Formats: sequence, C-alpha cells, structure tokens
Amino acid sequence: HRLVLRPVLRLRESSLAAGANPDAADSHVVAPGPRDEIGELIEAHNALLGRVAESKRRDRAIAEERARFLSHHEPLTGMPNRAALLEHLRQLRPGTGNAAGTVSLYLVNLLQFRVLNASLGSVRCDGLLRGFAARLKQACGPGDFVSHLGADRFAVARMNGEFAPAKAAEFAERILAGVSWGHDLGDASGGSLAVRIGIAAGVRGLDGNTLVNEAELALARTRADDVVHYEFYSPAFGEEAKSRQALVRDLERGITAGELFIVLQPKIAFLDESGVRLAGAEVLVRWRHPARGLVSPAEFIPLAESTGLIVPLGERVLADACSLIRDWLDRHGWAPRLAVNLSASQFSLRDLDLRLEAALALARITPDYLEVEVTESAAMKDVQRTAATLARMRSLGIKVSIDDFGTGYSSLAYLKRFAPDTIKIDKSFIDDIGTDRNSEAICDAILRLGQALGCRVVAEGVENEAQVAFLRRRRCDEAQGYFFGRPVPAGEFEASWVATRVAA
Ligand code: C2E
Ligand code: CA
Ligand code: CA
Repeated sequence: HRLVLRPVLRLRESSLAAGANPDAADSHVVAPGPRDEIGELIEAHNALLGRVAESKRRDRAIAEERARFLSHHEPLTGMPNRAALLEHLRQLRPGTGNAAGTVSLYLVNLLQFRVLNASLGSVRCDGLLRGFAARLKQACGPGDFVSHLGADRFAVARMNGEFAPAKAAEFAERILAGVSWGHDLGDASGGSLAVRIGIAAGVRGLDGNTLVNEAELALARTRADDVVHYEFYSPAFGEEAKSRQALVRDLERGITAGELFIVLQPKIAFLDESGVRLAGAEVLVRWRHPARGLVSPAEFIPLAESTGLIVPLGERVLADACSLIRDWLDRHGWAPRLAVNLSASQFSLRDLDLRLEAALALARITPDYLEVEVTESAAMKDVQRTAATLARMRSLGIKVSIDDFGTGYSSLAYLKRFAPDTIKIDKSFIDDIGTDRNSEAICDAILRLGQALGCRVVAEGVENEAQVAFLRRRRCDEAQGYFFGRPVPAGEFEASWVATRVAA
C-alpha cells in the first residue's frame, strides 16, 4: 500500500489537478517518496506536467499576441491602426536636456476614395491601397511611426527636437512626391492620385487624440482645387511655412504667366589631341519671380514635384526646347540635340511617351534631336517600370541619359537591362578629382562600366584644367561644366555655339 498504491493515488490526484488547470500543470508535480516502487513513472509524470504547462503558456502567448496584433493593425495593409498610433503617442517620453521634444503628426488623406473604389472595383482598390501604404512607408524614415487609420486615411508620427515648420513642410512634400504618382489606375490619368496632408505638432506625451483631431482640422482646411497640398493646424505654425505655401501659389501663377524660361548649357565631346566639339546641350529651367528675382530650380523643382505643378512646368520646358530646335533648323539648317530633365514624377507618368511624341510632332522635329535625363535614384525607384519606360523611349528613338550617376543605388543587372545611351557622372565625384583618390576611383569605375555597357559617359560639373586632363586620360566621351560654358539663355547659346558652327 505504501510503496505502490499511495504513489498511484497521488499521481491520479496530481493528474486531475493539472487537467483542471493545465497552464499551471507544473505546479502539481508529485514529490517522490524515498521508497516508492514506481519512481520512474512519477518522474515521467512530472516531466509531462512540465511540458503541458509550457506548451499551454506558449499557446496562450501566441493567441494573446495575435489578438493584440489584430486589435492594433489594419487588416488590409497590416499597418498599425488608430489604437496603435494612440498607444505609440502615449508612450513617447518627453524630450531630455534642452531638447524641446516635440512630436508632429501628418494625416495623409487620399482624395476621391469612393470614386476610385467605384471605378476600380474593391479588389483593385484594395491593391491600390496596399501599394499606397508601401509607398508611404518608403517615403518615411525608419524612426517614423506609420499607421493606417482606415480606408483613405493614413498617419505618420515623427519625433522632432524643436518643431520646425519649414522642415515639416519639406517632409510633407517628400511624402506627397512619394505617394502621388505612378499608380496603376488603368486609365490615362498618368496614374496620379490626389493626396492632401494635415499637419499638427505638440510636445511629446500630450494626449494623442488631441493631436489627431488637430491634424484632422488642418486636413479639413486643405482644398481639392488648391495647388498647396498640405496645411498646418493653426493659429500659425510660423511664417516660414506660410511663405513656402505662398511660393507654391506664385509658381502656379508664374508657369501660366510665362515667368519661366529655359537656359542651355553645352555638352562637349573630346576629340583626339586637345580638340573638342559640341555634342549637345542640357536644357535647364529658370524662374524670374516678379518680387524675388531669379529663384533657383533647386528650390522650386522639389516644390513643383510635390504639388503636381511639375507636369505643366515640364510641358512648358519640353515645348520650349522643341520649338527652339525647330527655329534653329529653320534658320541655320542645323541644331544640336537638346536634353531635358525629367523629375521622378514626370518619369512615372503613364502617358509620358505620348506627351513626348506630341511635343515632337507639334514642333515637326524628329526624335533624334531630343534626349531625356532621369536621375539614377528616380530610375531605380521602380526598376520594372523603368525598364518598360526606357524600352518605349528607345522604340520612339529618343535618347536616354541617367543623371547624377553614382549617387543612387544602382543594380548593375538592371542598368544593363535599361541600356541607357548615356550615363552622367555626378558632379560631386568630378569636384574631387585631384584631391580625393576615392572619387577618382569611382570616376574610373563608372567610365569602365560605361565602356562595358556600351554607353557614353558624360562628366558633369567640370570646372578646371586638371579635371579635363584626368577625363581625357581616362577616355571619357563627353563633358559639361563651367569650364566649357555656363548655362545661358537661348539667344546667347545660339550666337556662341549654333551660328558659329554653321559658319565654320
Ligand atoms: P542637374 O540636372 O544635375 O543639372 C546640373 C546643375 O549643375 C545645373 O544647376 C547646372 O547649372 C549646374 N552646373 C553645371 N555645370 C556646373 C559647374 O561646372 N559648376 C557648378 N557649380 N554647377 C554646374 P541648376 O540649373 O541650378 O539645376 C539644378 C537642378 O534642378 C538640376 O540638376 C535638375 O535636377 C533640376 N532642373 C533644372 N531644370 C529642370 C527642368 O527643366 N525640369 C526638371 N524636372 N528639373 C530641372
Ligand atoms: Ca540633368
Ligand atoms: Ca546632374
């Protein structure tokens, strides 16, 4: 009785207790007596209890984790939802030291969502939203908290030190440029979406609901027909942000009022010995603002890009370039090839080829007079699409050049597929020729890459003799920069490069 029956009864009791509470099964282990005859059975029993308890706890944790995930994520995009955003905002620690420690919230709204849903059907619309969410995430930094509040509403929470409105405007523009273009809408709209952003900011640790509401109020003040696509929660987030918005409105007016004009910068080809000849010219846009004077494209191109104004602006530049070629052909019987810059959003327009063709047809010129420059980073954004776009350019007979080469992250496999006619070594590497061995090595590598891929290599931003000597030694095809000629208005370019060549 003592050696067998009693231990068996204890085992039974323990089994029943463990069965009633499997999560804590291991708290019912049986202490073996010193002379139990069924010691092995007891050991096995205890081990089993331990395993049961552990597995139950794991199941529970997984289920809890899953429930938590579901309650904190939007099922369609798998992104954190409103509850998760509020929790994230609650958990932000106030700034330390002198840092003010602010958080800003960008409420991103896709306009006309219902119309899209009706025209695309819900399945394609879901796909569109997922694509939109992915683009939004890509446009944000790793420290930004991106959430999907449902249907057409997304939110990005971002930590700042001091809140700087101009920086916030810049970030809003980055988001807009990232998400507004190149979607598959199955129509001729160029795949562009109308997006508006409401911005609010406050100290860290404030009530998240307040922040979301303020961003909602700001969003409600944006208008579908305005060229400014974001708004700050008032009273006033500062003059800087307002003046930026004013600049966008000025730019819209300036494009139609003809305040924009083009300048041309020669690209030269190196000949043997020390000769050079004109290989073509790059078309660069200029804006004479009635009050501010000349505004740099480095300032207004990004604004135009994020507000959609880049499309009418690009049309203008393209039309001006084409009519210039026509004019030179008419008067001199000869014209150089002109290269126009295409920004990322222009490049992702689905009807880009039609627009280019129309511009050529309108000016009655053949495609070999036209070249487009697209930056390496824009080309690498969506490599499948770029390959298709470049193939269409090629079949049209328009030359393509990859700009700012060396600053993006090119996949060499894709570069080969893109088969561009030209790559342009970014100015930053040319700048360092003669002073930085690494930059020289990069120039070298790009030159050899171009030779291997069979495309021409242009060095941009060439300013001095030493750079020219280096490039000549390395058999660089072409160069562009202040050393050979600054960008100048069409009349001046004609006098120094077109008329003289014809005379010669
Ligand atoms: P980008 O395409 O890389 O253009 C080259 C820029 O370098 C031009 O500045 C040009 O004036 C400048 N540059 C050329 N040679 C030298 C040199 O030897 N030294 C120095 N320091 N600079 C040189 P710009 O005209 O201010 O244009 C800036 C950027 O604005 C362009 O960079 C391009 O990304 C954009 N951009 C200009 N025009 C257009 C346009 O019509 N459409 C689009 N989408 N973007 C444009
Ligand atoms: Ca360029
Ligand atoms: Ca460039």
